[in-house]
Amino acid sequence: MQTQAVEDYLKTIYEIQREHGKVATTVLAERLDVAPASATGMIKKLAEMNLVAHEPYQGVRLTESGRKIALEVIRHHRLVELYLAESLGVPWDQVHDEAEKWEHILSEDLEERIDKALGYPTLDPHGAPIPSRDGTIALAAQDRLIDLRPGQAAVIAEVSDHDADMLRILGGLDLYPATEVILISSQIGSVTVRTGGNEYQVPEEIAAYVFVRPMEPA
Ligand SMILES: [Zn+2]
Repeated sequence: MQTQAVEDYLKTIYEIQREHGKVATTVLAERLDVAPASATGMIKKLAEMNLVAHEPYQGVRLTESGRKIALEVIRHHRLVELYLAESLGVPWDQVHDEAEKWEHILSEDLEERIDKALGYPTLDPHGAPIPSRDGTIALAAQDRLIDLRPGQAAVIAEVSDHDADMLRILGGLDLYPATEVILISSQIGSVTVRTGGNEYQVPEEIAAYVFVRPMEPA
């Protein structure tokens, strides 16, 4: 039994594990917008299916088979996002919601055709790595824009795809993946960055979800 709910749980556990290292049931319930009691019930089921391991007070982690399913769903999601953006011209703030549905129903055949049509891409429209078919995934950038030092230059690697409003603001500031930025200053509530000769103030709650690769000082 691999229902959509199972896939959503595994994918979300993978994402929280990446962000926080440890996955608390409360955080998982909040992210999935379900009551803590139903998250606890589902975790029990997933543990019985040997897809997660769960020690009291230690949080939840994916087993090898759980991780495999999570990466397969994420592969579908990110390929679909890129296909919608590149081949159909869907704006980058709208592809996520569509991909949330497609990721569960995409056949292996269509997955392969999309992969081939796009030239075997490695990054989705938000800069997130696309897992390979055999279940490996490139290391995602860990540094956040908000953590740069004044004067430090970096390249934007990835932005969170979950918030369409945030993506529209970032797009309005031309802060797409692969853009070079320099952090000018940090102040309470925002950071000031320079890119392409312009200076922008980026609110803290957005800068915290922009991942960067710092460049070596020249
Ligand atoms: Zn997405």
